[in-house]
Amino acid sequence: MALRYFCNTKISTYHHRHGFPNTSKEALVELRSSIENVKSLISNTLKLPSLSSSSSSPLQSLQRGNWVKLICGASFEDVVDIRNLSLVYTLSGVDCIDCAADASVVSAVNEGILAATEIAGLQKKPWVMISVNDDKDLHFRKAEFDPEDCPANCSRPCEIVCPANAISFRGKSASGTSSNTELPRVLMDGVITERCYGCGRCLPVCPYDKIREVTYVRDAATTADLLRRNDVDAMEIHTSGRQSAQFKELWCALGDSVENLKLIAVSLPNGGDSTIPSMNEMSSIMKPNLQCFNLWQLDGRPMSGDIGSGATKETIAFAIELAKAKNRPPGFLQLAGGTNAHTIDGLRKKGLFQTTSIAVGSSNSPDALIGGIAYGGYARKIVGRVLRSMQSEYGGAARIEDHPQHLLMALKEALALVGPVKCL
Ligand code: SF4
Ligand code: SF4
Repeated sequence: MALRYFCNTKISTYHHRHGFPNTSKEALVELRSSIENVKSLISNTLKLPSLSSSSSSPLQSLQRGNWVKLICGASFEDVVDIRNLSLVYTLSGVDCIDCAADASVVSAVNEGILAATEIAGLQKKPWVMISVNDDKDLHFRKAEFDPEDCPANCSRPCEIVCPANAISFRGKSASGTSSNTELPRVLMDGVITERCYGCGRCLPVCPYDKIREVTYVRDAATTADLLRRNDVDAMEIHTSGRQSAQFKELWCALGDSVENLKLIAVSLPNGGDSTIPSMNEMSSIMKPNLQCFNLWQLDGRPMSGDIGSGATKETIAFAIELAKAKNRPPGFLQLAGGTNAHTIDGLRKKGLFQTTSIAVGSSNSPDALIGGIAYGGYARKIVGRVLRSMQSEYGGAARIEDHPQHLLMALKEALALVGPVKCL
């Protein structure tokens, strides 16, 4: 169970072993205090009645309807942030961490999970999922521009609107002109490629039309190699659902690499009347060598959870439609795209939270109609604020476990999001 073991003294043991940069008396007092705060937070959490649900395996979570997935982002490749995010959300009890299909990113996720496990003595580890695409997709793109082409008097709305701090004018800010107070690690002008996750918000705001989008499709052979690693448990295929030929091509190219997986997810938008036929077609393509569980990720309003409360409406509406559908193919249903702190309330209001039936639809399965929720931009935003604060104080490569005050703050944020799904 993710949290119980946090109550012991392993944090201090871990830090003693790894050493602290500042071992002054004041620093040690502060450290002890922050560790006590973390323990206290966890202890208080443990008093809540439904804690036992958090001890479920990822599969049980899907069956019970309290599965939580952290989406690091199919294009987000900042390994320092990814490691810290993975650590924090592992401690908060997520069931799966979804990341870019890139070897260094997968390693960063596993490092974060391992660090959390070592700190807290966890019995359960989240599944590691890689995300790929069968065709052009919003999640698989980067923004690009040449800062040398930007007029000197531009007010840089691109920099302001970017939710990932992926646009920097660090060189120019040295002369005091940057409005970005949360400077990224990489000291360069323009788009910091590894931080850009393709949300597209900078594209329409440039008054001089200088920003381009560069889309890409993950290479199937590289994906297959990653899937054969023993630290990858699951895969997600992003698809429009409209081009079954491309989906089939990718599926065939992956060959037997999918055989060792625990879960295969398909992420798709709401295609209206064509959604269920598309799902059935993809299901029949996968069936001959699908040897694990499968999941349908209902991508309501892609990459928008951090924008506001209303962003979650589309994925809830999508979930209602699919929960009612009698002819949908087998597989768990999971929400994404616009999910945030309001999603659980929305599901509850529609009678869809951790239930096996709703008024106009039901399942023959004992499993919950909705397996759970994936959180992306919103989850990264609330913990990212803490990471930025830590990095501005301790440098861009800071590990969050070395700064318990920040770990405590980040964990509080993560628990506020994950806890309600786990009924903590
Ligand atoms: S696409 Fe989104 S994440 Fe990438 S630079 Fe533009 S605003 Fe930032
Ligand atoms: S808004 Fe456009 S012109 Fe202005 S700094 Fe950004 S990319 Fe350059």
